Amino acid sequence: MGKCLKGKSESQKSDAKYVCKKCKAYTTEKSHLCKPEKIKK
Ligand SMILES: [Zn+2]
Repeated sequence: MGKCLKGKSESQKSDAKYVCKKCKAYTTEKSHLCKPEKIKK
C-alpha cells in the first residue's frame, strides 16, 4: 500500500477522485491514501 497524505489534501475537494476514510485527505491518486474511498459525484 502506498503512503498516506495524513490529512493533507493535494487536490481541491471539488476535483479530487478519492478521499481517505481515515484521515480525510483528498486526492486524484488512489495510491496516495491509506483508506481510499472513491468519491461519487
Ligand atoms: Zn489516510
